[in-house]
Amino acid sequence: MSETPRVAVLAFGAHPDDIELGAGGLLALAAARGQGAAAIDLTAGEGASRGTVEARRLEAAESAQILGLAARENWGWPDLHLTDTLDYRRQVADAVRRYRPDLVLCPAPRDRHPDHSAASAVVTAGAFWARMVRIETSHAPHSPRAVAYYVMHELVEPSFVVDISSTWDQKRRAVAAYRSQFDQPVPEGYRFIGTSDYHAAAAARAGYWGQTIGTAQGEAYVLASTLRVDDPVELLRAPG
Ligand SMILES: [Zn+2]
Repeated sequence: MSETPRVAVLAFGAHPDDIELGAGGLLALAAARGQGAAAIDLTAGEGASRGTVEARRLEAAESAQILGLAARENWGWPDLHLTDTLDYRRQVADAVRRYRPDLVLCPAPRDRHPDHSAASAVVTAGAFWARMVRIETSHAPHSPRAVAYYVMHELVEPSFVVDISSTWDQKRRAVAAYRSQFDQPVPEGYRFIGTSDYHAAAAARAGYWGQTIGTAQGEAYVLASTLRVDDPVELLRAPG
């Protein structure tokens, strides 16, 4: 990619499809509002039981179109062997400096998939590094206003829930773009940890979080640090 667009929301995922399942609704909202959204997949997903790297690359590109992403990158870090290293932190910091987002999204620290936990750690640290002048990369320091964790498998107490009812259909179609992951037969002997129907799981989760805020669909987020609010009245202004 030659030019990196400035975006309000920059989402990191361990595997192609993580950002769709966790944050697809918010990314589509930010795109529709003209704020701009971009995604970085840290691995190509070569460790998955189903699908090929090439198939997932095409699926990720299709999904990026559906969500209206301004850019999507894949860094090809090792799937199933993702760790929080100093070199990786520096690469995350440089990406945050390139895109200059207000909000950085990544998986939650506690997740049954070790790559998700590792992605959480390396992105949280890298986003912090992005503001530190003593951390040298090829771009100038940038301070995102917040790092927020999107919710995948584990139940959490959210810091906030976003109404995604207007972009739910895009999120649903973006998840469905991953035909190799969710609609192909599994290898013999493969045992699902949870449900085999990701579409039903995504719909159930969106419906559950939506109900907590009185909307049809929602997405839950946990802030990595306490949110500073100068004007609670403005923050609580009724939508619409
Ligand atoms: Zn994943």
